[in-house]
Amino acid sequence: MELARDLSDFRDEVAEFCKTRLPADIRSKVLLNQHLDKTDFVRWMRILQEKGWLIGHWPQEYGGQGWSHLKRWLFENELYRAGSPWLAPFGITYVGPVIYNFGNDAQKRRWLEPTISHDIWWAQGYSERSAGSDLANLQTRAVRDGDHYVVSGHKIWTSMAQWADMMFTLVRTDPDAKPQCGISFLLIDLKSPGVSIRPIKSINLVEDLNEVFLDEVRVPVENLVGEEGGGWTYAKFLLDNERLISAEVGKAQRLMAQLRFFLSEIRQGSVTLAETQAWRQRMGELELKLMSLVSLCNRMFSELEMGNDPGLSASMLKIVSAELLQAISGAHVDALSQGGLSFQAEALVPGDSAPLVSPEGAAGAVGEYLFGRVYSIWGGSSEVQKNILAKAVLGL
Ligand SMILES: Cc1cc2nc3c(=O)[nH]c(=O)nc-3n(C[C@H](O)[C@H](O)[C@H](O)COP(=O)(O)OP(=O)(O)OC[C@H]3O[C@@H](n4cnc5c(N)ncnc54)[C@H](O)[C@@H]3O)c2cc1C
Repeated sequence: MELARDLSDFRDEVAEFCKTRLPADIRSKVLLNQHLDKTDFVRWMRILQEKGWLIGHWPQEYGGQGWSHLKRWLFENELYRAGSPWLAPFGITYVGPVIYNFGNDAQKRRWLEPTISHDIWWAQGYSERSAGSDLANLQTRAVRDGDHYVVSGHKIWTSMAQWADMMFTLVRTDPDAKPQCGISFLLIDLKSPGVSIRPIKSINLVEDLNEVFLDEVRVPVENLVGEEGGGWTYAKFLLDNERLISAEVGKAQRLMAQLRFFLSEIRQGSVTLAETQAWRQRMGELELKLMSLVSLCNRMFSELEMGNDPGLSASMLKIVSAELLQAISGAHVDALSQGGLSFQAEALVPGDSAPLVSPEGAAGAVGEYLFGRVYSIWGGSSEVQKNILAKAVLGL
């Protein structure tokens, strides 16, 4: 699809900005898939905010620029292609828009500014042990007691809660209502008495996932967003936004470039892997999948431009992008294993000086492969998206 001139100029401007303003130490960590800390994320997001781009997708009324979905997608693609860290979405993409769409004026005044500046780091407290895909089954209870709710329950898989100040949380305020009707959307201060956070070590050996235990935590009623019992509507609004950012085309392009590097470094007999028939075919297949993802994104964002509900396109996008990212990182590991892959976990720690035994970036590639299982799980698993498609298209 041919881009309008202003959009292609904007894309070039973002690429140029990344070249000059993305700090080299942060970029290097991202390219090598090394551990980033909170200050890395915040430092970069503040640079983007200074430029006026961090919340470009917010309405002007709240400090944004009212970008279209297409413009925002182009922006993120350029960022990720250039080696930008993930723009932590919890504040700027998830809870911020819920607050300015459904919150009251006092909540907008209190929460939006520190969310944009990242003086507050938010966590997403949706999932529970028996409420992942079946989110409406959540059991965390909030009982009204005067000017407070008393909240008890157990959230799990809470990303980066170890850094978080606040958690936007789905709680059950009416246990007698139908599952979707008795849910409310509450903002919980994670420094409150009764909150404890326990890390979970994930498959790539990082401890960014957490369990959050809530034991009779007193939360002021003023932290209820929207109507009591209306939480399911806000939760779904937020999940739709989550799915819209699932097409990580810029990241896929960056990983493809890295794959080309590995293929040119690793030899099979007298030739590099890049020159073998098998790898040429595999690269061709991956390129084709990437092109079809881009075309699906164009279709979906055009639908959105015309004011249409992206509906099934969003589910397709979620499945296709998860499959592609997993296929590319699978190819990384296959290529590296042909070169005698050795997983050096210490190479994931910035500044470690142990000599590398595999091509630069190899340890990160394994980390990305392991972490990449998540693409088909979070934000609505691939199986659940396939159910949605089957129901709509086949009437199953
Ligand atoms: C790295 C990571 C970060 C996360 N971050 C957060 C976070 O910050 N905040 C948060 O609230 N949650 C977070 N999650 C949780 C995530 O949203 C859930 O893992 C996801 O919703 C799936 O739920 P579950 O893990 O309970 O799996 P389940 O729902 O138990 O599913 C298990 C398996 O069964 C399949 N399945 C389930 N139902 C159906 C069905 N009806 N038909 C066919 N197959 C089905 C699923 O596809 C899956 O393969 C995170 C998860 C991960 C892995």
